Amino acid sequence: MKKLTENIIPILIILSVLMAIAVVATQYNEGDKKPSKLDNLSGPSVETILPKLKPTPWQNFHEGNKNRLSILLTDPSAYWLDFAHALKTIGIPFSITTDINEALQHQVVIIYPLNVRDSVNSYEIELLTHFTLGGGTVVGIHGADKNVGLDQLFGVKSLPLQMKHTKIVFQNPERFNFTNVREREISIGNKGMKNYIFPSRGFNLLESTAIAVYEDGDAAITERRLGKGRLIAVGLDLGQYIHKGYSGRSREFSRPFMERQDVAETKLEDYIDLNVYEPSIDNFLRFMKHIYQEGESDAICLRTVPFDRALTVILSHDMCFSSAYDFALDFAKFEKEAGITTTYFVQTKYILDYLDYAFFNEQAIKILNQIKDLGLELGSHSVSHGQEFKGFRMGTGKEEFPEYNPYNVDKNITIDGSILGELRISKFLIEKFTKNTVVSFRAGFLSDPLQLPEALNATGYLYDSSVLAYSSLTHLPFQLNYNNGATAELNIFEFPITDDEEERPYQHLGRRFNFSKLLNISKNLENYGGVLFLLIHPTMAGEKLEFEKELVTTLKDTAWFGSLKMFGAWWAARNQVEVDVVTENGKKIVYLNAPVPISGLTLQLPNHWMLDKDSNEVNNIVMKQEKNQIQNLSKNNLNNIILNTFSGHRKLIFIEQEPF
Ligand SMILES: [Zn+2]
Repeated sequence: MKKLTENIIPILIILSVLMAIAVVATQYNEGDKKPSKLDNLSGPSVETILPKLKPTPWQNFHEGNKNRLSILLTDPSAYWLDFAHALKTIGIPFSITTDINEALQHQVVIIYPLNVRDSVNSYEIELLTHFTLGGGTVVGIHGADKNVGLDQLFGVKSLPLQMKHTKIVFQNPERFNFTNVREREISIGNKGMKNYIFPSRGFNLLESTAIAVYEDGDAAITERRLGKGRLIAVGLDLGQYIHKGYSGRSREFSRPFMERQDVAETKLEDYIDLNVYEPSIDNFLRFMKHIYQEGESDAICLRTVPFDRALTVILSHDMCFSSAYDFALDFAKFEKEAGITTTYFVQTKYILDYLDYAFFNEQAIKILNQIKDLGLELGSHSVSHGQEFKGFRMGTGKEEFPEYNPYNVDKNITIDGSILGELRISKFLIEKFTKNTVVSFRAGFLSDPLQLPEALNATGYLYDSSVLAYSSLTHLPFQLNYNNGATAELNIFEFPITDDEEERPYQHLGRRFNFSKLLNISKNLENYGGVLFLLIHPTMAGEKLEFEKELVTTLKDTAWFGSLKMFGAWWAARNQVEVDVVTENGKKIVYLNAPVPISGLTLQLPNHWMLDKDSNEVNNIVMKQEKNQIQNLSKNNLNNIILNTFSGHRKLIFIEQEPF
């Protein structure tokens, strides 16, 4: 009996191995067999050529009238480009100059940066004093501890640049309408990880007061009132700080990230409802906007949300599981009924591997076409969805279906993948089978390579959504630079994701959105026109669909809803809008230039400006100027007007009323 058992066991083992091989072989055959509609297809045949790195000259931002904020650039190698993009994002009209006399013709001047020893000489300090006495506002970024004259001017004693502060705390947050604790405080470092502390300079107060302080009590942002004007010193390089966020390299400052690090694995349940609101960059932008509006009598800003709605909501779905195709139409039909447009990011998975089946097949194509026919957007979610996409090589730009075969060996390793292959072929296949132009991209696992901006640019994409808001420290879109560097801008915009219901480490816990937490975030975003960008994997209907319905019902009266393609197009058009003001015969003439048509652009005007109804042009382009009704919408007390669709040069005439 013993002998028989001994004989049977090896036989059984051999049999099971053979069976396992047979099962695997069958699966691989299914995977290798391309769905019939993909048969005989090859492409794309046109080679992708990467753009050359061409530094953006600061002179591109030199034009404009005196109403604009002026950046006096003292060091063209500083992070001025990210700073400029940030001002565009928050909607402050600005121009850049290296000439102090030109800068001082404006009412608000930012000197950037001040850390160069002789960035401002004694003669220029005299000019700045005179300018301030007459009512001008000077903001000095980064301070300078070697320039005694500058310290005197700003009424401070600059302390050396150090890497020890982790946060900036606003002393009078109401002034900037900061209500949330993450607005009253800005994160600039993580004590747990020494390398992750951003360099900052403290100030001792002499003839100034502190707008904000570091945790050790040193002043971080100071203000000196002088004559009719004032001087504000900021103790860190805002351009560099913004650059860290915009290039996706600031995760370490992110408070949600730190809190996650702090919680032991065993207590995962405790932080499932984590607040993912991380507006550190947005706070700086709101601060700058406030300073501009206080200091410039003709301050006109562009709101961040179409049609003066309180916030923007983008709903998106990632089609990166075979099960997503079982429920996607339930979501799509609801969205169509609700009258909103959303984005479906499609993974064109035609290879069976560790991650999933080759689910981009005939059935999937049918469903995608139904989604498209409902008027919803199809974007790309790559071919392989490889975890290590951020480490992929760029590729040749000649990758073609079906020869391109990125293969996920396991959850971390993908072989034969390239950045251009992922972008080119997914776009090609979706466009081929749905006759839909693909302009939006989201990386699998949000694993985004530094070279993604130029790769997107070369392959015909316009909008990216591959970062989480809490990693980029902002809930507003921004323009990307070549190689995520600081010198060359590209015509690609990033739209950070507010929340992802399956983000690790939650997925295995079946985390779902927490509705009340999300509404709290949306309330915060309403204060400044942020974007609530949600990612819902349609791997089930039930609970997830109910959540989406509840969200749409709750926010439809306050939010502007749109797909990434819709909002992206609006954002890119807004990015090119120029606003200039001149005063003629006591009237304020506003010159607008929109190279690309834009609908629902909203101007925030000084409080006492009213449209001059006698101007015909006004009636053609203004939808409404709604004093007293704005509270319900954009929640700010300025005087907003919404513009109808227009493009090219337009002129609006305003009369100033007595301030009330
Ligand atoms: Zn995915």
